[in-house]
Amino acid sequence: LQAQLRRTERVAELGTVASGMAHEIGTPMNVILGRAEYLMERTKEEPVRKGLQTIVSQVERITRVMNQLLAFARRRPVEHRALDLRQTIEDNLEIFQERLSHSNISVETSFADACPLVHADADQMSQVLINLVMNAIHAMPGGGLLKLALTPDRGMVRLTVADTGHGMPRDVIAKVFDPFFTTKEFGKGTGLGLTVVKGIIEEHSGTIEVESEPERGTTFTICLPIDKS
Ligand code: ADP
Repeated sequence: LQAQLRRTERVAELGTVASGMAHEIGTPMNVILGRAEYLMERTKEEPVRKGLQTIVSQVERITRVMNQLLAFARRRPVEHRALDLRQTIEDNLEIFQERLSHSNISVETSFADACPLVHADADQMSQVLINLVMNAIHAMPGGGLLKLALTPDRGMVRLTVADTGHGMPRDVIAKVFDPFFTTKEFGKGTGLGLTVVKGIIEEHSGTIEVESEPERGTTFTICLPIDKS
């Protein structure tokens, strides 16, 4: 629990650090960029121009990374209210419909009758579903089955997202929620998807668990508190 708390705090801190860094690093970066461009205009010597061009492109690269971090940090304040998760699931599946059928993935949903509403932020729950469904799609490059289910569970609502994809070995399972952990090839994954999901679920006083078996598939189980209002 202690380690879990520290991890959640680290993710929250990342936001504060990113905003601070954007300013502290962004300002000098702009000065460097300005000076390099100024010098480039004043010289015709090719090796010098090449060196300056490298400075400019590397500064631009740092700025790009900074902006990505900022986008992650600037999540708007949450609005918890009574939310029908079934509706959120159906809305999001519609967005993915084409992609899913194109990838030969069939979808099965199972919703318990009169499933209670949860106390949650609609946009954040969409984010959770998007991240989990995206990962499931990536895990089933040759097609498969995606199952989503909602069931009441001891004063909470249980949401499961299961795929029949390539699954994960134990050492990967242990790290899936770690910031920047990814097994995807360079440039394809950020390793922040599940960190964000876990952060959101914990902000909602919920829990998230993962079960996975190589070559068989993966199931994420999320429990969220019922809305009491
Ligand atoms: P990213 O998708 O950018 O890699 P995530 O935090 O969403 O970052 O996921 C981290 C890693 O967890 C992935 O790179 C992958 O190895 C593993 N993973 C996540 N979801 C699944 C899944 N449904 N099936 C198999 N592996 C998964």
